[in-house]
Amino acid sequence: MSKLRFQAVAAASNKKPVEVDKPSGKASDYYGCKVFNRKAMSQYLSKETFKAISKVIDKGEPIDRGIAEHIAAGMRMWALENGATHYTHWFHPLTDGTAEKHDAFVEHDSNGGLIEEFSGKLLAQQEPDASSFPSGGLRNTFEARGYSAWDPTSPAFIIGDTLCIPTIFISYTGEALDYKTPLLKSISAVTNAALEVGRYFNEDIKKVYSNLGWEQEYFLVDEDLFVARPDLALTGRTLMSHESSKNQQLEDHYFGSIPQRVLKFMEELEYESYALGIPVKTRHNEVAPNQFELAPIYEECNLAVDHNLLVMSLMDKVARRHSFRILLHEKPFKGINGSGKHNNWSLTTDNGINFLSPGKDKVENLRFITFMVNILMAVYKNNGLLKASISSATNAHRLGANEAPPAIISVFLGSQVSDILDKFENSSVKDAIVVDEKKQISLGVGQIPEILLDNTDRNRTSPFAFTGNRFEFRAVGSSANCASAMTALNASVAEQLREFKNEVDGLINSGKSKEEALYEILKKYIKESRPIRFNGNGYSDEWKIEAAKRGLDCETNVPVIYDSYTSKQSIKTFAGILSEVELHARNEVKWETYTKKIQIESRVLGDLALNHIIPVAISYQSILLSNVSKLQKIYTDQVKFKEMADEQLRLIEKISIHVNAVNAKVHEMIDARKIANNIESEREKAVEYHDNVAPYLDEIRYHIDKLELIVDNEMWPLAKYRELLFIR
Ligand code: ADP
Ligand code: MG
Repeated sequence: MSKLRFQAVAAASNKKPVEVDKPSGKASDYYGCKVFNRKAMSQYLSKETFKAISKVIDKGEPIDRGIAEHIAAGMRMWALENGATHYTHWFHPLTDGTAEKHDAFVEHDSNGGLIEEFSGKLLAQQEPDASSFPSGGLRNTFEARGYSAWDPTSPAFIIGDTLCIPTIFISYTGEALDYKTPLLKSISAVTNAALEVGRYFNEDIKKVYSNLGWEQEYFLVDEDLFVARPDLALTGRTLMSHESSKNQQLEDHYFGSIPQRVLKFMEELEYESYALGIPVKTRHNEVAPNQFELAPIYEECNLAVDHNLLVMSLMDKVARRHSFRILLHEKPFKGINGSGKHNNWSLTTDNGINFLSPGKDKVENLRFITFMVNILMAVYKNNGLLKASISSATNAHRLGANEAPPAIISVFLGSQVSDILDKFENSSVKDAIVVDEKKQISLGVGQIPEILLDNTDRNRTSPFAFTGNRFEFRAVGSSANCASAMTALNASVAEQLREFKNEVDGLINSGKSKEEALYEILKKYIKESRPIRFNGNGYSDEWKIEAAKRGLDCETNVPVIYDSYTSKQSIKTFAGILSEVELHARNEVKWETYTKKIQIESRVLGDLALNHIIPVAISYQSILLSNVSKLQKIYTDQVKFKEMADEQLRLIEKISIHVNAVNAKVHEMIDARKIANNIESEREKAVEYHDNVAPYLDEIRYHIDKLELIVDNEMWPLAKYRELLFIR
């Protein structure tokens, strides 16, 4: 066996579980101990300041400088007492992950010494050198300034020795350069719009929340094996390798017990999450070998997004402590399931109403239908945009494959809710109001069966499914920032609810009763949004044909999918959240990122093919060749010789065919890259990479995977799937 691979496999199989160094006691004892939450604030801030910051958080009121000074002082004291020496503005640039630049608290004092300082100004706003973050041309490099500004609705926290302050990141001229700015605006848009509509039914609602509960899927790989796979290390996925004879056919991993080494990793991850106030709840094996899932209790959307990003970076740190590497890529291994991140989303109120829960009486159920139908309309009108919000070079491997949602957005409602809407469509206010209790039941509006609350009617093939009291956006990729999908969804629903309110109020002003107006508009919407409803098998080919007939967005080319961001409808949807200029700029970043990802994969595959695979294949072929010449010396009779060297000759020829194909295609791929690289427009370049570079990745892989089956196992240089995929 190749030395590197041999050592890696040996090292991986000899590892013991790592004991976790965590405090004794219950999770509730150390929950949030590293967060400047309300409890810490009440201890470190004066009563007045605490009241003021609570108002800012609860009511979204602006913060004044004087208060910021007091908060900074309290926060500094808390941070120093908890071991922090540095602070950073923590933000979500338009790349994967988060960004931070650490500054020490120290300043000169007047006596030539140092003093720990942290002012309100430093808390509220900073100017990180922004020139190295993508902006899509919004910020010319000579105007490198970008501002990070404090988001008081997401509490500061300590990681290691650093106080992290969640911030937004905007350009000098005010355009968003991050994920958080539009997310916050979309949350405010949808909660305000939902509040207005909610008040048709309950006048005492004061505040609406948009909630998110994410379910993060991931793979773990042993560190030594990870290092022995340059493709995994550099691109996050395996660009080659034949399927293992055993992978997920037996479906034994999902129900199997969690391996000890992994369990220890999970324990530490949970402890670290609790300390940071992240309410993680569920952990389990997933379908594929080495695949797992972590899910918290749902939270307010902005906080949930921050927590997901924190967990992703925690996972990486904790995994290394346990000699693992975390794979958040949507499709690290061919032939087995990929990873997603279901986004469970709902709208709830300060007085305990969930707008997506069917109610007990007529009013509550009309409210339920109102929100349900408006969400259907929002998803229908913006189905192309919602797909764009979850599309990426990496998620493209998963969408449309047989274990993930299809690349067409549709909504699964389940048979009960579908029936209710169908009946509603053919009913009138008179039916619902005047008729007796029995008739109401048969109408289905007055009484929706309680069973809906525990909806077990799950359709795993739907990208957007109603699951009892929430919608589950399942098409989100495991490596994505949830903010992208949540911003698009919040914005779509907000725009739709505003339009609905306008239409209903228009009818009321023209003399209709509120109920008549609601009925009329809802019935119209049910009809109009019908094409988005699909309860069948989303993986089937018939659905693709049917969806196209219904006029749903069926585009599969990722760079082209991004065009949806700047459609007429999207510009309307994003009004007040992202301007047309910002939408265009952000697409530039998306196209550039797409191109870079494919470019890196293409280079890595080319290098591995030429430097790892072809040399080994030729070495093995040489062994076969020398065997053949030796046989020829012994068997002088040509017929006998051919008989004895039959298999060797066959393998020699096959190796030549595959080696030549790999070589030729690598060079064709390099030429294709050169053509693409010369294209000026980021969009056209990305399309070129999609159309004419990416296909080579699969073609080259095909021949390499054939070689893997031929070449002597002892010589094969890269860890095989059967070695990578089964943690002991
Ligand atoms: P599944 O059966 O799909 O794995 P779980 O019951 O584990 O679902 O929940 C998945 C996620 O959905 C969790 O984060 C959970 O807190 C969240 N969730 C549950 N109810 C709601 C809701 N009303 N709004 C948003 N998220 C919710
Ligand atoms: Mg789920």
